[in-house]
Amino acid sequence: MSLDPARTVAELDELRALTGDDNGAQRVAWTETWEHARAWLREKVAATGAREEIDEAGNQWFTLTGRSEGALLIGGHIDSVPNGGWLDGCLNVLAGVEVLRRIAAEGEPPLTVRLVNWADEEGARFGRSLFGSSAAAGSMRDQDEIRERRDANGVRWEDALREHGVDLDRVLDARARLEGARAYLELHIEQGPVLESMDLPLGVVLGTFGVERHRVTFRGQAAHAGSTPMDKRRDALAGAARLELEIREIAKRTGGGAVCTMGGVVTKPGIVTSVVETAECLLDQRHLDAQKLAGMLAAARDTADWIAREEALEVDWEKIWSIEPILFHDELVELADASVREVSGTSHRLPSGPLHDAAEVARAGVPTVMLFVQSLRGLSHTKLEDTRREHLELSVQALDRLAAKALERFA
Ligand SMILES: [Zn+2]
Repeated sequence: MSLDPARTVAELDELRALTGDDNGAQRVAWTETWEHARAWLREKVAATGAREEIDEAGNQWFTLTGRSEGALLIGGHIDSVPNGGWLDGCLNVLAGVEVLRRIAAEGEPPLTVRLVNWADEEGARFGRSLFGSSAAAGSMRDQDEIRERRDANGVRWEDALREHGVDLDRVLDARARLEGARAYLELHIEQGPVLESMDLPLGVVLGTFGVERHRVTFRGQAAHAGSTPMDKRRDALAGAARLELEIREIAKRTGGGAVCTMGGVVTKPGIVTSVVETAECLLDQRHLDAQKLAGMLAAARDTADWIAREEALEVDWEKIWSIEPILFHDELVELADASVREVSGTSHRLPSGPLHDAAEVARAGVPTVMLFVQSLRGLSHTKLEDTRREHLELSVQALDRLAAKALERFA
């Protein structure tokens, strides 16, 4: 059986009809629809002869035994957000099925080939992403917090997991599944506008952004809006407003895909008749380079300090969350680049803003790379998410070329 990328697109349509509705995809992890999708996938893969197993974290593995126990892994996630798109996550899984078919048809591969459908990449029901891949990578540390998490209807996550055969005390046993992994490949829609703006179908992902998130609070003095002259004010919102404009310059100066976002400002007392006393800003900064990210954070702190001095305010910083950047494997990036060139003529290397399961696998020390395929209008996590069918087919071809090259290189 030779590679048939059009079949992948037909199967994506089939899955959409089976697990979506007028509002979009409804394959939220740890629900009946998600189980339905997994059962459907099981039937699709059966003909390849790959052996199915569900690991301790609920990840669904399909294994094609090769001449070596060393393994090439291809991964994706069939779960979606509620009212999600038809491609996020499941494109990777179904393209992987097609690659598995091609490899199986050619006889015993030099490495064992394993397709993994990660459990709960999106974190849509319980608010924590990358459940299955972080367990397999051994980076999950928050089991106690997970145990207490509840969904919008008050169902405890631990109970929902048990209903789907997952024992929270054993999820880290899934680590055994990454033993012997020589390389990990993941294809994903870009979920952003870069490839479309360059008129390119495909790109190679260099890594995932590191993130620094802080709450920055400016404090001034509430004062009557009518009786306080302009030069006598200590207006906390002026601090927030000036910082928001400056972080744009910090990102531009830093370059290399740097992004800084002030995602929210809460002002108090927040009434029309008072100067703002406190302005609490939510700041998100991202970069692929750890040093540049640290530099952007330092620059934002310095900037907030001089703004506070000029506006007669106090400012303090509270860390909300941070994560280190992940750089993908140099040699795999080269192989991915060659694969993309072979099928589409031109390649482009770009960082990933969103996190992906691939970041967890890379963190566990497995050589990793991702391919992106263009997203129309850059939209995702909505039923409007779309990619041209010819681009989807090219993406399946590129993943297949990459799998072939990786099998040769890592055998
Ligand atoms: Zn995804």
